[in-house]
Amino acid sequence: MTASEPIPFLDLKAQQARIAPELRRRLDAVLAHCQFVLGPEVAELEAALASFCGAAHCVAVSSGTDALQIALMAEGIGAGDAVFLPAFTYTATAEVPLLLGATPVFVDVDPRTFQIDPAHLADRIASVRAADRLRPRALIGVDLFGQPADWPALAALAAREGLFTVDDLAQSFGCTLHGRALGAAADATATSFFPSKPLGAYGDGGALFTESADRAALFRSLRTHGEGTTRYEVLRTGMNGRLDTLQAAVLLAKLTVFPEELAARERIAQVYDRRLGNLVEIPARVPDSTSAWAIYSVLLADAAERERVQASLRAAGVPTAIYYPRPLHLQPAYRDAHDGAALPVAEALAHRILALPIHPDLSEAAVGRICDALDAALRQ
Ligand SMILES: *Cc1c(COP(=O)(O)O)cnc(C)c1O
Repeated sequence: MTASEPIPFLDLKAQQARIAPELRRRLDAVLAHCQFVLGPEVAELEAALASFCGAAHCVAVSSGTDALQIALMAEGIGAGDAVFLPAFTYTATAEVPLLLGATPVFVDVDPRTFQIDPAHLADRIASVRAADRLRPRALIGVDLFGQPADWPALAALAAREGLFTVDDLAQSFGCTLHGRALGAAADATATSFFPSKPLGAYGDGGALFTESADRAALFRSLRTHGEGTTRYEVLRTGMNGRLDTLQAAVLLAKLTVFPEELAARERIAQVYDRRLGNLVEIPARVPDSTSAWAIYSVLLADAAERERVQASLRAAGVPTAIYYPRPLHLQPAYRDAHDGAALPVAEALAHRILALPIHPDLSEAAVGRICDALDAALRQ
């Protein structure tokens, strides 16, 4: 790469070149047997993913969004139910409870780690109980940007309040907390294999994890139209939530290099921490954790400075992105569902946050150029 060539925000072509032989072998095997939906690679992938994250059961599904939906459907969550979730996350987290007729109750996040704030969650549960209109029913905790949420605190609070817990691990598959991979921290864990996630397919895909054999059986039934023990026995209203076999084959090929990719992301994050820590606010590490570094976001002083820096970086061939420019409670689709509670941290982050490129094929030289360009942009 020359000094002025644009740097890719994500480089799936470089990754493909790196894993080409294993990818070919895996895809050819599927093309030979032609079992394109829920073929043998899907079961192989489920076993490999469960073992990777230390969960008892894995059920592969069609997307991260469908994984969340199946988790809530299995619990019978619907009208009259309050589902607590962070206001600062991807839209799918709030969309799913609304699709099922439930009400999302937005919770603020920690200003330094950007993760859902357990103290504010406790306040929100108390206010829903006091209003006495909705039944506090479930919590969707999101592990944002690659880091884990504070699951010990969230799970303890949920247990005290009788809430069903779903871990939205869509951005953070591969992270660890207190030395253990995430996958068994909640009653159900949902992840995504959208191509830009740390472990991404070549299309849509997702997975559910649970410690309960009964819940796993329910997930399997729901992903295939609520089927019973035979295909033509319908026990419940389900959906088409199956994973296709070519995606499983891609994921099996990628899983072989996933640990080294996580290490590469961590090395880049450490360079960013070291080089940028005195220039901008860098993301605080969740104590005793490792991150999958789906996203590395810094905080600028305000929206005007962010706009200036983003333009200056763009001119230097450095792409950036904003996750998220608007918190969910202020989205046109969701604001009617919001009870009006103040969520000041999520609102402030939306104006200040800026994501820098981070992916396993980002060279040391490119990381250096990004840091130099940010330094220069802040001096302008
Ligand atoms: C990507 C994402 C999802 C949805 O996953 P899809 O596979 O795109 O459906 C859900 N929640 C969060 C936090 C995400 O980042």
